[in-house]
Amino acid sequence: MDMNENKRRRSMLLYVLIAIIAYLAISQALGSGLSASRVQSVDYSKFVQMVENDEVTQAESIYGNPEVTFTTGEGDSQKFYSTVIYNGTEESTAQLLNEHGVQMVSSIQDTSSDLWLMMLLSYGLPILIFLGIGWWLNRRMKKAMGDDGPSMNFGGGFGMGGGLGKSNAKKIKGEETGVTFKDVAGQDEAKESLEEIVSFLKHPDKYTEIGARCPRGALLVGPPGTGKTLLAKAVAGEAGVPFFQIAGSEFVEMFVGRGAAKVRDLFKQANEEAPCIVFIDEIDAVGKRRDTSLNSNDEREQTLNQLLSEMDGFDNHKGIVVLAATNRPETLDQALLRPGRFDRRIPVELPDLVGREAILKIHADDVKMEPGIDLGIVARSTPGASGADLANIINEAALRAVRLGRKRVTQEDLLESVDVVIAGEKKKSTVLSEHEKEVVAYHETGHAIVAATQKGSAPVSKITIVPRTSGALGFTMQVEENEHFLTTRKEAKDKIAVLCGGRAAEELIFGEMTTGASNDIEKATQLARAMVTQYGMSDKFGMVQLGQPASRYLGGGSQLTCSEGTAQEIDRQVQELVEEGHQAALKTLRENRFKLHEIAHYLQKKETITGDEFMNILTRDDGFAPKMPKPEQ
Ligand code: ADP
Ligand code: MG
Ligand code: ZN
Repeated sequence: MDMNENKRRRSMLLYVLIAIIAYLAISQALGSGLSASRVQSVDYSKFVQMVENDEVTQAESIYGNPEVTFTTGEGDSQKFYSTVIYNGTEESTAQLLNEHGVQMVSSIQDTSSDLWLMMLLSYGLPILIFLGIGWWLNRRMKKAMGDDGPSMNFGGGFGMGGGLGKSNAKKIKGEETGVTFKDVAGQDEAKESLEEIVSFLKHPDKYTEIGARCPRGALLVGPPGTGKTLLAKAVAGEAGVPFFQIAGSEFVEMFVGRGAAKVRDLFKQANEEAPCIVFIDEIDAVGKRRDTSLNSNDEREQTLNQLLSEMDGFDNHKGIVVLAATNRPETLDQALLRPGRFDRRIPVELPDLVGREAILKIHADDVKMEPGIDLGIVARSTPGASGADLANIINEAALRAVRLGRKRVTQEDLLESVDVVIAGEKKKSTVLSEHEKEVVAYHETGHAIVAATQKGSAPVSKITIVPRTSGALGFTMQVEENEHFLTTRKEAKDKIAVLCGGRAAEELIFGEMTTGASNDIEKATQLARAMVTQYGMSDKFGMVQLGQPASRYLGGGSQLTCSEGTAQEIDRQVQELVEEGHQAALKTLRENRFKLHEIAHYLQKKETITGDEFMNILTRDDGFAPKMPKPEQ
């Protein structure tokens, strides 16, 4: 009996060991090893360079997420990196990877409806294998030991317990983030608010001595690409503390019950390394308002509850600061915003003119430029661009210089890359017929003439009819001389008229409509609708809010907050406003028909003309020149 017992124990041990080894092997094979290790983040340009040097062995991306994780080397010398690819470069990146034979794994982040399928695929298989091994071992053991062997149910239960609940927060030593406030431009208010956190992290004891309570958490809110992640890293860099980064979606993507475990583990790790920063990126994925609707997500709520209780529980004397970033603050659960949690909200807004120039400068320092380059004009032609867009512009300019075999970036590279980032790459394969080119030329000239003859509109700086990969067949660029923050009712109406100018020219000259105006129509309607429902600019309703913007930082229309009857009336008002702009555009173009012909034909021949060329023809005194508005003082 004793002997039997011993033997039994030994085989149990063996049994567990084999299962562990099998689990490790399988999880490794499934590629989960990639996200779990230390990851160093690098610039996109560095990434491209590494691919071109054929150092990269494998790359992994999640659909809709700009981050790409990739590895170099193999086996023991394998290293993990991540980079952010910019909007619009996905295709060229994929092509580059393909050319260099890099294996690319893309996966789709779950939305809850896909979750079951995902789970089935990623866990069902290993569990089946476990069960199989378990069953097989059981049988062997039974055979070896007679029929009264342990008939425990192995496999499934094991996998869920131990290793799986580990949070895969990437830990980057504070010094290693390599980012300081110097690397973030144009966010002075945000930096100022974060300064206090930095000083707290440097000397937590100073604060606790007096009995001051430092904020436990701060929420960085702002549109995508404005430098929220960058700022969080900079705080760690400034304070020289470790930096734990995890994306909100990582909490929710996995097995039921894992999210909460991950939160616990994350805070345990942080506690060991304090003072430190825990950074939860895109927190809205986990911190969405809990509601009572039927399709609420239990898993997410559990995770959120765990997060809330951890934030209450951790010992703040040691100096743990939780930073989080989101661009949908309005969806966050109120409980998260309570004092003692993310009680501080730090807006990270789109940069203004000065900010844009400063950001361009930071990124321009990384590339070789010809002397005498004017970044100011780039800053002026990119209102509404985020820091990420601007970094992308510099990078595209550098890529263009390389493509053209130059050693330095020129002004032309920069201006061309503004177009690329704003309107998409020039498309070589779209060949327009001569007639289509003519239509597009008239269309764009229509926009330009309506804009130029208005008082106070931004001057036209460029017109082009070279097709873009974004689908645009041409565009007219207007560059504001100064920034302005308020739009008057007249300016809004003028803008609608400019947007209608393209279609109006087509109607006037060809007596026909094309699909080319769809984007203009979309923009004009949006603006008119906002005038009626949000800005109180309609005659009919006056200063009543009839709609709420759906999301402040992500754009995307508004939700009506009025009765059905009113909604009908709103539609009518919107239609009237757009029609008014349409008629104004038709009138202007009718009056300037000769100039319209001349400029359109010139544009058709040259394909791209500057604002100066355009104005020269328009204002040339040949008896047809329009009365130009006096420039404002
Ligand atoms: P967010 O997290 O707000 O979406 P990121 O911090 O990820 O934006 O910014 C992406 C990239 O854009 C950064 O790595 C940086 O290169 C650039 N960038 C964005 N904002 C700034 C800024 N204010 N100053 C310098 N670079 C910036
Ligand atoms: Mg970010
Ligand atoms: Zn148009």
